[in-house]
Amino acid sequence: MNFLQSSLVFPISSPPIENGIVVVDDSGVIIEVIDPMTTGELPSGIRKYEGFICPGFVNMHCHLELSHLKGKFAEKTGLVGFIDQMRLRRGGEFIHESILKADQEMLANGTVAVADISNSPDTIDIKKISQLYYHTFVEVFDVNPGRAEKVFEEGLMLAQKFSDVELSASIAPHAPYTVSSKLLSLLSKSYFNKAQLSTIHNQETEDEDFMFHSQSGDIFDFLIGLNPANADSIHKTDSSLEYILDHLHHFEKLLLVHNTFTKDKHIKEAQEFSDDIYWCFCPNANQYIENTLPDIELFRKNNCRITIGTDSYASNRSLSILEELKTISTHFPKIPLHEMLKWATLNGAAFLGKDNVFGSLERGKRPGIVLIENVDLKSGTLQGNSVAKRI
Ligand SMILES: [Zn+2]
Repeated sequence: MNFLQSSLVFPISSPPIENGIVVVDDSGVIIEVIDPMTTGELPSGIRKYEGFICPGFVNMHCHLELSHLKGKFAEKTGLVGFIDQMRLRRGGEFIHESILKADQEMLANGTVAVADISNSPDTIDIKKISQLYYHTFVEVFDVNPGRAEKVFEEGLMLAQKFSDVELSASIAPHAPYTVSSKLLSLLSKSYFNKAQLSTIHNQETEDEDFMFHSQSGDIFDFLIGLNPANADSIHKTDSSLEYILDHLHHFEKLLLVHNTFTKDKHIKEAQEFSDDIYWCFCPNANQYIENTLPDIELFRKNNCRITIGTDSYASNRSLSILEELKTISTHFPKIPLHEMLKWATLNGAAFLGKDNVFGSLERGKRPGIVLIENVDLKSGTLQGNSVAKRI
């Protein structure tokens, strides 16, 4: 039995406890969380830490297979510039080593579970032996409706490769501007036949809505430049999100990622459409690519279920959930840490259907115990040099 005490303990499922003591057995299962103010006699053998203790982080958006692109892409190029660099940089050497390194980095910085996007089987061997829990979204994209069935079948075959070795996987579309309505309908039908988790990159750039709303802009030009026939398959809707919700149904839960340019009316439309929508922010990636951030206060006001992701090494300097929280608290200092930590733990675990194991310091769970050091103990907030580690 281990008794872990810190200046402030965040059970997440209940309010923070000053000088709380987390009692865990040797396998990491929580026995109880003790509030010393309401407990008479304290146990002996307490290990004391200065900082915050919280459950392990759930990284809700990553592309582990792109880890070899660390430091390779120019920053702040906008999304079209990013896609262009992506086309040139896929593949390459050292893919396996970089995936293993990224997995180990996440383990060390307090991550316990990851929702990871895959276009290839490159990550299977590492995920199989990893101490982290992975759900893999096998990503499909193609704007040509004539190729929808072939692309969908290939996606199914890749997802099967993950399932064959007992890794959780489902198939998901890349982004509104890279999937035909035919491909979305095939996905929708497959979700109808078998309830599945889904995700999509959503409103990452202003141009995305522009393409659907006005049939113009950089992304529109980019797609037409690839093939002029693409113009015929671009639907006219008010927003890119509307296009997705018009064609994608029956998902078990849908995770909308980035949401950098999502407006109040889009949030309300999505919430009216389904009770099973979650939102994921990757603020450091948004700054890397577009040098902007989503209006996070808007999502709080609408009681959205918020989660946090790092995106990949193609658009981030680290795969650390704490670094994402630090960026949010710098730009939105009024958001309480307790609330942000819930986004980074319990909400993601609930999306993955793993909140019986991860997400909070509650009896019977095995959520991983994270210590955040170099914090402002007086105000209970993060600082620029705060770091997280597993204890
Ligand atoms: Zn992404």
